[in-house]
Amino acid sequence: MADSTIGAGVADGLRGAIGNTPLIKLQRASEATGCTILGKAEFMNPGGSVKDRAGLGIIQDAVARGALKPGGTVVEGTAGNTGIGLTLVANALGCRSVIVVPETQSREKLDFLRMIGADLRLVPAKPYSDPGNYQHVSRRLAEELGALWANQFDNVANRDAHRTTTGPEILQQAGRVDAFTCSCGTGGTLAGVGMALKAANPATRIVLADPDGSGLYGWIKSGDLSVQGSSITEGIGQSRVTANLEGAPIDDAVRIGDTDAVEQVFDLLIHEGLCVGGSAGLNVAAAIRVARDLGPGHTVVTILCDGGSRYQSKLFNPEFLHSKGLPAPPWLEPHSA
Ligand code: PMP
Repeated sequence: MADSTIGAGVADGLRGAIGNTPLIKLQRASEATGCTILGKAEFMNPGGSVKDRAGLGIIQDAVARGALKPGGTVVEGTAGNTGIGLTLVANALGCRSVIVVPETQSREKLDFLRMIGADLRLVPAKPYSDPGNYQHVSRRLAEELGALWANQFDNVANRDAHRTTTGPEILQQAGRVDAFTCSCGTGGTLAGVGMALKAANPATRIVLADPDGSGLYGWIKSGDLSVQGSSITEGIGQSRVTANLEGAPIDDAVRIGDTDAVEQVFDLLIHEGLCVGGSAGLNVAAAIRVARDLGPGHTVVTILCDGGSRYQSKLFNPEFLHSKGLPAPPWLEPHSA
């Protein structure tokens, strides 16, 4: 309920500070395509990513169902960002968090999770079919602890958070949306925003953007979820149809390689002054692809999922980039005096 003791412009605690992010016109991408390409600046959320919304939505739903009470514990398996969102929201409610992360994720996200008080459990990266996969480990841990399992992949409170906040914000900010594209981890963002945009205008095209090493492009194109290749992006890519993706109104898919994703990250930084992570770069590359398919004069919206500083040791490290056969921007290359 709204707090009548505070002014209309005041955010009611952390909860009130999540969301309502700017929708930024991306000049270069727009000029290159003759379309209006807009990026939702989710890196401006308090926890620094789009996943603050899912964290808040999942916890609010659990509190409403009586499944989480002050003093309680929330457990989750995550690439990092959902763990950050959940931990911050849990802190604000007087709850604790136990966060299970594959050890391949960037050091910055792991350090940040420890810094904000998460009980961090690192596990080896294993496929979903392996009982040691971080998602299964987190489920078992929640059962052992008698804690709430957030279950972001199959808990539709995740996509509902986007259906009721991200989607309506985009509609209100953009006025007109011809297409929306973004990549998927849980699929909560794509499904929830897609549902909101389709409800307002069924002609809006919803396009799934997929990295190499993910099965979703094949799922949309031919019903084949098999996986090929790999990607340095984190938090995106999926080899199964999560409950959040089930029934999502998706019209098409594009596959974007790391070279294009990384190029967009550096373009956004040096030409627009926006420092974003790999999934945001991939999303902008996808928006450009979708805009070219639609032709000039259309409005295409995508998500700037998180900030680049979360990946300083990888995405902004020339040695790492070269080891993956990817180009580094000139300003990061070591030069002799
Ligand atoms: N980008 C990043 C950096 C993420 O951490 C995530 C979530 N894992 C996503 C994109 C994908 O969001 P969603 O889970 O809503 O599909």
